[in-house]
Amino acid sequence: MPEFVQPAVHLIGWTTFNAELMRKLTGWTTDAEGGQALAEAAGRLCFKSWQKPNPATATNAGYLANILRQQHESVVEHATATFYVTGVSRSLLTELSRHRHISLSVVSQRYVDEANAAMVVPPAVADHFGANAGLSSVAASARSVYEGMVNVLTSEGMKRKQAREAARAVLPNMTETQFVITANLRGWRDVLRRRWHVAADAEIRRFAGLVLAELREVAPNVFQDFPAEPFGTGE
Ligand SMILES: Cc1cc2nc3c(=O)[nH]c(=O)nc-3n(C[C@H](O)[C@H](O)[C@H](O)COP(=O)(O)OP(=O)(O)OC[C@H]3O[C@@H](n4cnc5c(N)ncnc54)[C@H](O)[C@@H]3O)c2cc1C
Repeated sequence: MPEFVQPAVHLIGWTTFNAELMRKLTGWTTDAEGGQALAEAAGRLCFKSWQKPNPATATNAGYLANILRQQHESVVEHATATFYVTGVSRSLLTELSRHRHISLSVVSQRYVDEANAAMVVPPAVADHFGANAGLSSVAASARSVYEGMVNVLTSEGMKRKQAREAARAVLPNMTETQFVITANLRGWRDVLRRRWHVAADAEIRRFAGLVLAELREVAPNVFQDFPAEPFGTGE
């Protein structure tokens, strides 16, 4: 029977910052580290504002709050975050790939066998009908047609890659995909503004919530103006 999977978002890459070298070069220090320290360094370089006379902007949180309020978001482009993502659907991938400031490396449906592909039930369907929402037979039937098609085409001499690229046409949108995704923090802010939003598709909104939770762990100051609940709630 097909396996139904849940989304998982793992932060596997994240910008580091050489605080000691920066202190030697400028005399400036900060109370943060990693990408958010780097963003502050980049911002302070612009005005050579290595001194911190104003208490409101003396901390990394205060400094970045001011920068973000003024929409000087280019300074957060210096930091990137990379996630290893599993348990999301091809539908989600289609929507996500519309964002032009992300970098994606996706499991190939031409090279990788999908005969045992896992499935992702859309959250609204799962909420209404239960965990696999009675979709097992749909998934099993699609996978069986896929497998049959690959077998016939390869037995007639077609390369496996070509047989799989043809047979994948019968796989549903709920087929699981996996990818590595990178964006700089400005890019992530832009994606999350649109997808951590009540108007967004429920699966990509759930994905956005997971990404935001991870980003808040490493860069809370860069996402301090983002709401706990999706944008648009209560409007
Ligand atoms: C709720 C929702 C529903 C949607 N429904 C549909 C739909 O039905 N059909 C559909 O096709 N899409 C749909 N989309 C996708 C949407 O149209 C955008 O493609 C997606 O949100 C990416 O936004 P973007 O193109 O503004 O930004 P990105 O590609 O993420 O780029 C970020 C920003 O960079 C700038 N930028 C990027 N490229 C250029 C450029 N070439 N020229 C100038 N400025 C640029 C813009 O300021 C842009 O806002 C939907 C999105 C959402 C959130």
